[in-house]
Amino acid sequence: MFALMFQVCLMGKFEEHLKTINGFVVFLVFVWYCYDIVLEYRRNIMGYDLSYLVLVLPAVLFATWASYKVKSTFNKYQGLEASNGLTGAMAAMRVMSANGIGDIPVERVRGELTDHFDPTNRVVRLSDSVYGDRSVAAIGVACHEIGHVIQYKEHYPWIKLRNAIIPATNIGSKLSIPLIIIGLILGATSEKFIALAYAGVALYSLSTLFQLITLPVEFNASRRALQQIRTLGLLDSSEIKGAQKVLTAAALTYVAALATSLAYLLRFVLLVSSSRRRD
Ligand SMILES: [Zn+2]
Repeated sequence: MFALMFQVCLMGKFEEHLKTINGFVVFLVFVWYCYDIVLEYRRNIMGYDLSYLVLVLPAVLFATWASYKVKSTFNKYQGLEASNGLTGAMAAMRVMSANGIGDIPVERVRGELTDHFDPTNRVVRLSDSVYGDRSVAAIGVACHEIGHVIQYKEHYPWIKLRNAIIPATNIGSKLSIPLIIIGLILGATSEKFIALAYAGVALYSLSTLFQLITLPVEFNASRRALQQIRTLGLLDSSEIKGAQKVLTAAALTYVAALATSLAYLLRFVLLVSSSRRRD
């Protein structure tokens, strides 16, 4: 370049050639700028956004469908009254007494599909549409919650493990995302800070682990519920099929929760590892 400028000066056509050189430099900068935009665009589409499209979006759609499925299946079998005339609360009490559990009250709780067993206060809470309802769906859900009570009574290992990781999961769910964001921002200045983002990803993985351990717990509670319904004759054989469909639909929401958590975990891993590569 200097040799060319020297030659140009000698030839007395400095100004004219300077324009050409300037034009060339501007052109080079323009090409480099375009190339950078294309690279950035490709990285965003191929790395960051593609992981959203391929991983997170299907999981979110699956979760939305599972949520719709559980509501529609519950509504369908809520319309089918059980032949024995028991309410959800009555069925729950009957299963508990048949299993020698007499010290756990059954309470009514507000909301839709908010039924749960609270092991700390040792109380079963059934939602409005289950507690006093005489439907196949209500009996299925009520017996599922008693399935959890029996799990505690029999020291079912997966529910113990799930409870053991709850405190760590709670801390993880509060700290993971801020740590990932801070790690990525500071990681742009020094690679050392990427460790913070990895710590965030590790904390996030605890909630994925929690969702994974939830699966055997929920499937087992439903299996116990159907077993109790059959043994105690709470529903007839055609009604049991309805209760089974309600419980299977409910289990799908836990599978969807795991899929969503796993998708986000993989996305975070991709995000943090690709940021390291860029450094
Ligand atoms: Zn459950």
